[in-house]
Amino acid sequence: MPTRSITNVIVTGKSGAGKQPRIDVLVEEFGLEQLSTGNIFRSYLGKFNEYGYEGDLKEFWDESKERFIPDDEIAEKLGTSDNDIMLGMKAKYFVDKGLFVPDYITNELFESYFAKKNYRNQVLDGYPRTLQQAEFLLKLIERENSKIDFVLLVENSDEMIIERTVNRRICPKCGKVYHLVYNPPDNGRCRECGAEVVQRSDDTEEKIRSRLEEFRKKTVPALEYLEKHGIPVVKVPGHLEEFTPENVRKSVMDEVNKLL
Ligand SMILES: [Zn+2]
Repeated sequence: MPTRSITNVIVTGKSGAGKQPRIDVLVEEFGLEQLSTGNIFRSYLGKFNEYGYEGDLKEFWDESKERFIPDDEIAEKLGTSDNDIMLGMKAKYFVDKGLFVPDYITNELFESYFAKKNYRNQVLDGYPRTLQQAEFLLKLIERENSKIDFVLLVENSDEMIIERTVNRRICPKCGKVYHLVYNPPDNGRCRECGAEVVQRSDDTEEKIRSRLEEFRKKTVPALEYLEKHGIPVVKVPGHLEEFTPENVRKSVMDEVNKLL
């Protein structure tokens, strides 16, 4: 049973720090929902794909102004003014080109999805990831008379994260996650379903180091901004000597309770 009432929480940390188990604790302890950027993108891209538009997305982009054409013109060309489908198109435009999605698009998608949740009762996961997103979020929260109670920062060293990530193997069939040393698959096969486990293409040392650098350069300033604006940052260890659900819960709740 939730002990205290929480409006919204942000969970952040380096990629691979171990956020998900901590998110699970907050969801359970406070009766919150997980709102992850990855799911938001999948949801809007899915709506656009379902709509089945066949044309070239280039026609929605104004080269001379380096931005999308006005929404009413987008609606006309698409044949729908459904906001979710239009947002899906905007996201897909960048994703298809393999381009980094600009903050204003991520903000637009986030705002629309957060609105569906009434701006409340969410564990924000993967957002805000940049200073511009953090500024946008605080304005939104103020406008909607909502609140971010605290940021939970899952701390972990670069070396620990690299060690964990390069040894990670995933079952492509059932999604079970293995570690070659601490939780090895059975002769390269999933112990649940027998499929051959694989290494994600993102789990190479070079890619991990670039994600770590991204966190330092972009996300750390966002966290500093939030803290400066009165949102407490609660730090919890991503690495535990003995990783059990009870230890994870305790390491999170001990710190959170100091604040509440
Ligand atoms: Zn499996």
